[in-house]
Amino acid sequence: MSEQTPLDPAADDSRGLPEGDSSGRPAGDPGLPDGDPFGLPEGDPFGPHNLPYGVFSLAGEGEGRRRVGVRLGSYVLDAGAAAAALGSPYVSLLARATLNPLLAAGRTAWSDVRRALTAWVTVPAHREAVRPLLHPLSEVTLHLPFEVADYVDFYASEHHATHLGQIFRPDAPTPLTPNWKHLPIGYHGRSGTVVVSGTEVVRPTGQRKAPADSAPVFGPSVRLDIEAEVGFVVGAPSAHGTPVPLTDFREHVFGLCLLNDWSARDIQAWEYVPLGPFLGKSFATSVSAWITPLEALDAARVSPPERTHQLLPYLDDSAESVADEPGGYDLRMTVTLNGQVISEPPFSSVYWTAAQQLTHMTVNGASLRTGDLYGSGTVSGPAAGQYGSLIEITWNGRDPLELPDGKRSFLEDGDEVTLSAWAPGPNGTRVGLGEVTGRISAAR
Ligand code: CA
Repeated sequence: MSEQTPLDPAADDSRGLPEGDSSGRPAGDPGLPDGDPFGLPEGDPFGPHNLPYGVFSLAGEGEGRRRVGVRLGSYVLDAGAAAAALGSPYVSLLARATLNPLLAAGRTAWSDVRRALTAWVTVPAHREAVRPLLHPLSEVTLHLPFEVADYVDFYASEHHATHLGQIFRPDAPTPLTPNWKHLPIGYHGRSGTVVVSGTEVVRPTGQRKAPADSAPVFGPSVRLDIEAEVGFVVGAPSAHGTPVPLTDFREHVFGLCLLNDWSARDIQAWEYVPLGPFLGKSFATSVSAWITPLEALDAARVSPPERTHQLLPYLDDSAESVADEPGGYDLRMTVTLNGQVISEPPFSSVYWTAAQQLTHMTVNGASLRTGDLYGSGTVSGPAAGQYGSLIEITWNGRDPLELPDGKRSFLEDGDEVTLSAWAPGPNGTRVGLGEVTGRISAAR
């Protein structure tokens, strides 16, 4: 690892890219609309090499006017209107209120639509038609971009799982449970409470019982935490009863987003044995408003960490046919609390790949649905400054964070947490991921 301080935004920038902020935007570039959406600064992380998808409405239009948008710099392209204006056959996929029809259309359509969009925003002959359909981000409302079908959350970071083992099972022979290196551990979550970035998160109320207490008490959580994760969005469904092999990952998964799995540690600790997370997690899960297509991230693909155990064949990604398409993604994540950078988790350090998670999730014959969402689990690197949750950062409250407005072991009402990230793009560019932010409000 780099010897630089982990909280330096430019730390671990081994590719020698220009210094920039956590969205990947070059230093000194405010990213403000300059009146010409086609006049993007060179190296803008939301340039034509990125083109993430979202759903937006214009101020004052109301909910009924939601439509698919594609981000270009600090603008949003009304993708369906562009398709109509340019006589594209993809109007049926893009002139919609949600991404689900595009998600369901499958990999060939995803590529074709992306190629068309790239042309619409780069070919000078299209500019006259496209320019009026680009809206400044400051003038739009962003909505949950797809209808979430099933939601699964994994536990795929070895460093995160190790840290939690050290915190909760200090007397165990090893911090990892015996199954951890043999399968990606996960649980089924609550899709109806997945919310878009910017949505207020109400402090959950429930039962908790500290080990020294004789009986549980009821009230607002006093140990509310974050989990910095990456979410994967399933497009093409699979047949019930038929497992999805590792090699079919990109036939089914459309793209990814940042995800914050808000977690009430006190509720979780009292309820989770023996069936796993329940009310300590299900109150809210925040996702970014932008879904980055996997095709925009080809330059960010990396091999996952070295495997220390022989994997069963269905999960073994060392075979040539799979290893040709490395399953890791080099996403450089940043976590801020009330504007202060508190962590920079490296997604490339996550042990189980998104392909292995998808394959394991379906190996019993469980089917995929369009709009399925699965989280990677908290992303934590090995070093201090790379932990993706407060329970690790403060070591279960032993080492509180010192913030300008006071100490924090867990979240206070009014605290705002933002996850952002960028990835290496083609030709030395950066691909910015849409941020996910949420503010805690008092329990009701
Ligand atoms: Ca989680």
